[in-house]
Amino acid sequence: MKQHRTGSKGRLSRRDFFKGTGAGLLISGVTARSSVAKTCPAAGTPVRFAPEGSLTQVSPHLYLLRDTCNVYVLKDGDRALLIDFGSGHVLNLLGQIGVSKVDGILHTHHHRDQCQGDGRAVAQRIPIYVPAHERHLFEDAENFWRNRRVFHLYYVRNDFFTLTHDIPVAGVLRDYETFRWGPYEFLIFPTPGHTLGAISLVGQVDGKKLAFSGDLIHSPGKVVNLYELQYGYASADGVDVAIFSLTQLRQLGPELICPSHGEPFASPEPGITDLIGKLKGWWESYSPDSPPVTTMTVENQPFAVTPHLICSYQTFANSYAIISDSGKALFVDYASASWNVFNSFLHATPTLDRIRFVEHTIPELRARYGLKSIEVAMPSHLHDDHLNGFPHLIRHHGTKVWCYENMVDVLQNPRGYNLGCILGEPIQVDRAFRHGETFKWEEFEFTVCHSPGHTEYQMAMFADIDGARIAFAGDAFEPVRTEHVYEFHHDLIFRNWVEHDSHLKSIRTILEYQPTVIAPGHGRPFLSSKEDLEGLKRRLESQQDYFHSVIADPDCNFGLNPSWVRLYPYQLQARVGSKAGIEVRVRNYRSKPMYLEAALVGPAGWKASPEGVSLTVPPNGEGREGFTVAIPETWDRSRPRVALAADVMADGKYLGETVEAVVDVDFS
Ligand SMILES: [Zn+2]
Ligand SMILES: [Zn+2]
Ligand SMILES: [Zn+2]
Repeated sequence: MKQHRTGSKGRLSRRDFFKGTGAGLLISGVTARSSVAKTCPAAGTPVRFAPEGSLTQVSPHLYLLRDTCNVYVLKDGDRALLIDFGSGHVLNLLGQIGVSKVDGILHTHHHRDQCQGDGRAVAQRIPIYVPAHERHLFEDAENFWRNRRVFHLYYVRNDFFTLTHDIPVAGVLRDYETFRWGPYEFLIFPTPGHTLGAISLVGQVDGKKLAFSGDLIHSPGKVVNLYELQYGYASADGVDVAIFSLTQLRQLGPELICPSHGEPFASPEPGITDLIGKLKGWWESYSPDSPPVTTMTVENQPFAVTPHLICSYQTFANSYAIISDSGKALFVDYASASWNVFNSFLHATPTLDRIRFVEHTIPELRARYGLKSIEVAMPSHLHDDHLNGFPHLIRHHGTKVWCYENMVDVLQNPRGYNLGCILGEPIQVDRAFRHGETFKWEEFEFTVCHSPGHTEYQMAMFADIDGARIAFAGDAFEPVRTEHVYEFHHDLIFRNWVEHDSHLKSIRTILEYQPTVIAPGHGRPFLSSKEDLEGLKRRLESQQDYFHSVIADPDCNFGLNPSWVRLYPYQLQARVGSKAGIEVRVRNYRSKPMYLEAALVGPAGWKASPEGVSLTVPPNGEGREGFTVAIPETWDRSRPRVALAADVMADGKYLGETVEAVVDVDFS
């Protein structure tokens, strides 16, 4: 067992420590968030214990300190870059190897043993870089603790190993981008598993391709623990995610693995393969209880529906690739690697981030189906489970995005709307299509139609491919096997903007185009049956009758669409001390004009101008009026996100504060 020392001061008991000045500063670090840089030296970092031993040399420019985690020191002259930081004791030792300045710390993941000493780095103005999807667990850690439920604990993921206090972050390490420092370049490679935002840093050091892989692998065939690989209650979800990451890292062919615990090890391929094999064995024998998980993520394989239409249906939402003879592809949707990957990332996504994405399927499309480039991607509809991979395609494959015209603003301004399943990252659209518009791409011809119901923002796209008439139908409906036959089921999500005839519009369109194959948003493509579609149409007609019979307002869309009057943008971003515009937008479902008045209700001290607006909205039409909101210069930093409401009168009837928006105040 290690002896714990307090550096040059000798032993210090816990009681002595809490009596010391460190404890007082610790409290000020927690409470005075705005002055965190000044108070951070003591925020959780007083020198209580220190690791035994000193820096050991891994290769000419790479050193290792075995601290609460392995701290790697990459040296360039008298400067250094640190990978993870542990207790921060490394700062006391750098002089021994001729380092006088640390240019930065890169963290592989957010666990406290990786970063508990970061306050010491902040005190020395050393910039700290963290995985993009774990940023909030560093700089907003105290907010995490305010909100992390402990009672009724079913989300058992060990995010409890998060820092206890906020640490300022100089920059984020984004998946698949490159971090450059001196002569070194590191690929920031997503390797979720041990944590859901974890990264590995892969690059050449002293003539070897090495990977700083955090706690993805401890040593050949071993993980540091299994409990980090369980996120959901009784599940084996993290084991599946870790197998996926280990497989991807193995494909990069590192020659040396530098783990966060355990010893660096060379020629790692057999050790990684051994670990993958053991984890697969465990996953199979444990038989996870989540029904949608039928295969491991790494075993998902695309298949050819027709020679030019390749489908990945195990990727949670489907991903379709139409690959022309030239090798160019048009994707319809590009979804998450699996249901388990989507679901795991979804629960770990904080309020202001987007769900994480890891690349999948593209290597198989290249190897087996002649894919050369991904020229275009089209979303069947705006949902994150279908277009989660689009920003990745744009950034790393030069892909253009085309879509049905009513999706353009939602994709480009996702903060504008409060709809189900919006991806929290803007996507630039290169081309939009009207209802019924036909276009040619390579040797194929497509027709795009509006297909509302599941959401207002959905297309049905028809194409003749290899002699089959395909309907890309998104989530309009899906086949469910009943006792006797296949039956189509549709779904209804009021938050997705639904009107009484939305579903009927989409089924009528699909019947009109008479496809032979339906390519749905989830599940295997299947042969189209006119009888089944007619059966669904009859059920949708009775659904429409039901809406009319049960909703009090004779114009029943007012009882179906919670956003008929709304504020735009729904999530406003504004700098402290500035003014920002926000609109009240109205969809009038009446067959006569609607006179609407609205007044904005903000936090105390906020001013809206004008105080109230009025507008006449045409029958079955849209109307909008704008406000300007002034955010006071003195606004409290501890309230960076607040709600606004609008008080509304419609045709003389007082509806009250029936709509709202949130404002993110930028203090930077
Ligand atoms: Zn860890
Ligand atoms: Zn879906
Ligand atoms: Zn959907």
